[in-house]
Amino acid sequence: MSHNHDYDLIAIGGGSGGIATANRAGSYGARALIIESDDVLGGTCVNRGCVPKKVMWYGGAMAHSLRDAEGYGFDVTVNGFDWHALVEKREKYISNINNAYAKYLGQNNVETLTGRARLVDANTVEVNGKHYSAERIVLAPGGHARVPDIPGKEHGVTSDGFFEFEYQPNRVLVLGAGYIAVELAGMLNAMGTKVTLGIRHESFLRDFDLMLQERLMEEMCGEGVEIKTYFTAASLERNGQLICAVGEDGERLEDFDAVIFAIGRSPSTDDLGLATAGVEVDKRGYIPVDKYQQTNVPSIFAIGDVTGQAELTPVAIAAGRRLADRIYDNQEGRHLDYSLIPTVVFSHPPMATVGLTEAAAREQYGEAVKCYHTSFTAMYNSFTEHKAKTAMKLIVTGEDEKVIGIHMIGLACDEMLQGFAVAMRMGATKRDFDDTIAIHPTSSEELVTLR
Ligand SMILES: Cc1cc2nc3c(=O)[nH]c(=O)nc-3n(C[C@H](O)[C@H](O)[C@H](O)COP(=O)(O)OP(=O)(O)OC[C@H]3O[C@@H](n4cnc5c(N)ncnc54)[C@H](O)[C@@H]3O)c2cc1C
Repeated sequence: MSHNHDYDLIAIGGGSGGIATANRAGSYGARALIIESDDVLGGTCVNRGCVPKKVMWYGGAMAHSLRDAEGYGFDVTVNGFDWHALVEKREKYISNINNAYAKYLGQNNVETLTGRARLVDANTVEVNGKHYSAERIVLAPGGHARVPDIPGKEHGVTSDGFFEFEYQPNRVLVLGAGYIAVELAGMLNAMGTKVTLGIRHESFLRDFDLMLQERLMEEMCGEGVEIKTYFTAASLERNGQLICAVGEDGERLEDFDAVIFAIGRSPSTDDLGLATAGVEVDKRGYIPVDKYQQTNVPSIFAIGDVTGQAELTPVAIAAGRRLADRIYDNQEGRHLDYSLIPTVVFSHPPMATVGLTEAAAREQYGEAVKCYHTSFTAMYNSFTEHKAKTAMKLIVTGEDEKVIGIHMIGLACDEMLQGFAVAMRMGATKRDFDDTIAIHPTSSEELVTLR
């Protein structure tokens, strides 16, 4: 531990990555400080990302359950949906998490400071005009939603603005084709808002397996989301209370209460003093790191979204904890392996994926690749008027049929993948799947009975 500095470790950013690193370091006895510019701790995930999003997703799922109830013999009349009440409860839930974070950091003797941090040199940070030094600095400032530079852009909001809606909008245009766009469109639609999703190409989620793209497109269209392909907004116009988006080809999409830009995120590195401290960034502004999360400056590390690698909360947390394990608990060589990261898109229905897509697998392994598919109506849906299909794909390679990709969409797929991802990480083969006794009656049993 360093005695020449104020702290052993300073984390810039009190989000998923910064908190995880400082907490773990503190638990090993390191003197750690977190600097957060927001009034509350938790960062994107807790305050304007995963957590509020999942609450709204549950709201959408609840609307679907109410719709489905008749199929199970219930005579349900829905008298209304109080968006405002849900948002109020959601914010209370989030503030409980904020408080829990503060408590947990205190238990690990991690100090916190509110203010915007800027690097002064390789071991010093400036906040509110004061300097703080540390043997090591972890940069975890995360990212922010991009807004296109088009006339009228001020009439649109980002996902941050979506979480500020106090009342339910009637008609919304979501622009974007990534998971955030698809999720916002799906949950708004499920809760009764009329949604148009504008995407630049023919499909969305284009890094995902084609089966998932196609199935979700069908489901969303079937649920009433209007999907405008090849639409790129060139400007937004306000007409009284309503907003119109004009496409690059002149097409006008009219009469929206809100337009949400979900066109991607950028790293939050402005004013961070990176150049002053000699920290390199890549062309897109992300901070490159080696496998130990180290930047080109030996005392400065970077974690989470700012590194531009899988931009997910558990990734930021895992990278931060491993860094602290290695440095403050002498766990030599410990680092995060960025391969085989399982992930879920909280669409309606949800999709889950880990490993290679079929296209990537064929590119990498050619003829050795084999795919097992299934598509079925889940038992739940056999009784409901709305029939959502569940689809699954297992991608294997070689003589021993090692599993290299799992892709699924349908009811409860979000809760199915975690355990299968463990098996894949351990090198499971198709035979291991087949030799596992199915749990009946479930949808997940289909994955261990594929032929
Ligand atoms: C709408 C949405 C939904 C998402 N859903 C999911 C999901 O379902 N699952 C999932 O795994 N991930 C999800 N994510 C991604 C997830 O939120 C991020 O991957 C995660 O928050 C990254 O953690 P981080 O520590 O890198 O950054 P952040 O959590 O963004 O934290 C960075 C913190 O640093 C602070 N900061 C920035 N600059 C400074 C500075 N100079 N000084 C002091 N403080 C500073 C910021 O205020 C912020 O609090 C979602 C993101 C969004 C936007």
